[in-house]
Amino acid sequence: MTDTLFDKIIRRELPADIVYEDDEILAFRDIHPQAPVHVLFVPKKSFATLNDCTAADAPLLGRLLLAASTWARREGFADDGYRCVINCNRGGGQTVYHLHLHLMAGKQMPERMV
Ligand code: AMP
Repeated sequence: MTDTLFDKIIRRELPADIVYEDDEILAFRDIHPQAPVHVLFVPKKSFATLNDCTAADAPLLGRLLLAASTWARREGFADDGYRCVINCNRGGGQTVYHLHLHLMAGKQMPERMV
C-alpha cells in the first residue's frame, strides 16, 4: 500500500484544517475548495480506491457517510443541502489514492451528472 499525503495528514506529519475526528475517520478542508464548504472525509484505514473495499468494510463505509451527514447537520446546512462525491481511479477523476468522500456545500451545485 502506497503511503499517500492523506496518510501523512492522519499521522499529523502534514498540516491540515481538521474539522472532525473519531476513532476511524478524519475530516479536513480541501486545500483547493470547489465550494464555500469543501471537506474531505477520510477513513483512517487505508484503501487506495472504493474498489478495494469489500463487504467486510460496509460498516466503515456507512459510518463514513454518516460522519458527513452528521457534520453537515451540526454545521447547519444539512436541510439546505450538500453534495457527496467519491472519485474512483483515473476515469473518475481520483488524484489521491486513499479513499475519501468529498462533501461540498454553500452554493448551488452545478448541473447534475446523474
Ligand atoms: P480526488 O481528486 O477525488 O482524489 O481528490 C483529492 C483532493 O485532495 C483534491 O480535491 C485536492 O484539492 C485535495 N488535496 C490535495 N492535497 C491536499 C492537502 N494537502 N490538504 C487538503 N486537501 C488536499
